Amino acid sequence: MSPIPGSGLAKGLAVTLRTMTKKTVTAQYPDTQPELPPRSRGVIGLFEENCTVCMLCARECPDWCIYIDSHKETVPPAAPGGRERSRNVLDRFAIDFSLCMYCGICIEVCPFDALFWSPEFEYAETDIHELTHERDKLREWMWTVPEPPALDPGAEEPKEIAAARKTAEKLAAQQAQQGHQSEEGGTP
Ligand code: SF4
Ligand code: SF4
Repeated sequence: MSPIPGSGLAKGLAVTLRTMTKKTVTAQYPDTQPELPPRSRGVIGLFEENCTVCMLCARECPDWCIYIDSHKETVPPAAPGGRERSRNVLDRFAIDFSLCMYCGICIEVCPFDALFWSPEFEYAETDIHELTHERDKLREWMWTVPEPPALDPGAEEPKEIAAARKTAEKLAAQQAQQGHQSEEGGTP
């Protein structure tokens, strides 16, 4: 059976009319910035102070795109008669984002919380070499990492916070006691 002349046009117009009344889901980037979830995988930030140069992230990265250089330094003993210790000092930490596949393995395996996801994604370059971000740039990304979500109301207090709180309370109690003693000593 041959189709009714003009039926195709009518069908097309019907689709157009239907979609015209629906809410737009596309955003006119870059005029409109996308509303990304806070945990989006945009770029990786390095919190250098936490890095012990254990090399786990570089070893586990499936793309071999984390470059770390370091040297050893001898630390004098903390107390007289103690032993000297050696520690790793970071010389270079870089991630090549032209190779990275954003799997997040490096962040997952880091035992010292030195790597974090940032939702920032606007770092396209015309020169591919510029996509290797060195430690200074990775550090800058840290300031764009969102705060972690709040704990559940009934959640147990994290061990680090509990330990820090106890130490602070102990110090405050000691200071209060010392103040009280000096006041008593000063009374004629
Ligand atoms: S996200 Fe994956 S590919 Fe990218 S640096 Fe980390 S481990 Fe390597
Ligand atoms: S796994 Fe973490 S601590 Fe170890 S080298 Fe990588 S960033 Fe540093």
